[in-house]
Amino acid sequence: MKDSLKKELISIVGPGRATDEPEDLVAYSLDPSLDEHRPDIVIYPISTEEVSSIMKAAYREAVPVTVRGSGTNLAGETVPVRGGIVLAMSRMDKILEIDPHNRLARVEPGVINYDLQVAVEKYGLMYPPDPSSWRTATMGGTVGTNAGGPKTLKYGVTRDYLLGLTVVLANGDVLKTGGRAIKNVTGYDLTRLMCGSEGTLGIVTEIIVRLIPKPRASRTIMAHFPRLEDSSDAVSAIIASGIVPAGLELMDKVVIAAVEADSHLGMPTDVEAILLVEVDGDPESLNIQVSRIEAILKEKNASGVTAAETPEEAERLWTGRRAAFSVMARLRPNVIIEDATVPVSNLTTMVRKVTQIAEKHKLQIGVLAHAGDGNLHPLILFDERDKDELHRVEAAIDEIFRVGLALGGTLSGEHGIGMSKAPFLGLELDEVAMSVTKTIKQSLDPKGILNPGKFV
Ligand SMILES: Cc1cc2nc3c(=O)[nH]c(=O)nc-3n(C[C@H](O)[C@H](O)[C@H](O)COP(=O)(O)OP(=O)(O)OC[C@H]3O[C@@H](n4cnc5c(N)ncnc54)[C@H](O)[C@@H]3O)c2cc1C
Repeated sequence: MKDSLKKELISIVGPGRATDEPEDLVAYSLDPSLDEHRPDIVIYPISTEEVSSIMKAAYREAVPVTVRGSGTNLAGETVPVRGGIVLAMSRMDKILEIDPHNRLARVEPGVINYDLQVAVEKYGLMYPPDPSSWRTATMGGTVGTNAGGPKTLKYGVTRDYLLGLTVVLANGDVLKTGGRAIKNVTGYDLTRLMCGSEGTLGIVTEIIVRLIPKPRASRTIMAHFPRLEDSSDAVSAIIASGIVPAGLELMDKVVIAAVEADSHLGMPTDVEAILLVEVDGDPESLNIQVSRIEAILKEKNASGVTAAETPEEAERLWTGRRAAFSVMARLRPNVIIEDATVPVSNLTTMVRKVTQIAEKHKLQIGVLAHAGDGNLHPLILFDERDKDELHRVEAAIDEIFRVGLALGGTLSGEHGIGMSKAPFLGLELDEVAMSVTKTIKQSLDPKGILNPGKFV
């Protein structure tokens, strides 16, 4: 990057909000993927106007810009592979407004998802999209990936709660999409176009989200299944019963064994799956739902069924599931978390296939799943310094995606495509879809400066 451009960028934000110190550049060269590339400069903007001025300069000089929230994405979406500018949005972290009458909130993109949840709770409201990374993930990042989470089955994903966005385009123009109205069908749905675009179409600088009344109570049930097939039959039977759980999570035997060895929670290690079911709503209706779910779980051969009677007991039942990512990640130097997603009726087949793929390639792969959505998270453990093992991991990932697609699934249920899954995109999108995707990108970012080297 030319020194003159660096000086211009620093003068836009002022001293203290831009850095090209080597240790900072290293920190922003990484995310949870295996890729790594240093930017030339990291800038911390605090307003739409600043982002617009930065983009105007970057556009003029055709310099790449990678926008970053907390960098927790799992598909190499924030590695600045072509160098240039990293726009770190962490200082645009204000909740600008909570409007309980219109049930909406207006936030800057650096607000942490959890902080918004806590803030709206005071008004008896809820913002449902809650990725498991909610204590770290930013609102901008969740828009960038269209994040889901454990509550997706009942409540949907990020895009279902977006009312409007302010977006700075590649050339610095400021685009306003949507607005404050619940219903809005004017023109193309540019809000949804931006959601999940992984920083390749614009920089989101303000977000208006829809809120809903917070359910008055919730109950959690845990069930142990000696046979995997029975657990997935139970998932289908619960859904078919007309009950829509707020969460329906599955842990396979590899994950159960790892969590139990680490945390000694008293989970049985001789079962093939554990299901956690959470229902929420009015306290009066919950007892009936819990009884019906308990009956279904037993009918489907669950060997142990426990319904929490208090919030503390519920929290205890969730402990293993919440700890699972970090426990698995500690077992080996590297972990890749995939998110192949299949129609829910193919959940068991997919979990079985993943187990077979693990055995074939002599790898340790555990599976967590948002079972109600058919959204699997195979957790692949390895050591990247072992080149032979790394090749086996790559072969296993390739097979997992191909099997998932053959079962009617998709490459990603919630993590996005980024760099890691870009080579597989053509397996899912046909020529026409690829061509439309490229046309959209070309018209909004003709110089290809926004998050280059990713899926488009
Ligand atoms: C332990 C763990 C658990 C996770 N669980 C879930 C889960 O349950 N559900 C789920 O969906 N994901 C999950 N994730 C993935 C990740 O946390 C989410 O995708 C999250 O939304 C990323 O937020 P972030 O702030 O870290 O974004 P980043 O990783 O910084 O960015 C993500 C993408 O959004 C773009 N972006 C960031 N800010 C902006 C902006 N202001 N404007 C435009 N684009 C922007 C980036 O360029 C990038 O492409 C998990 C990750 C981890 C590590």
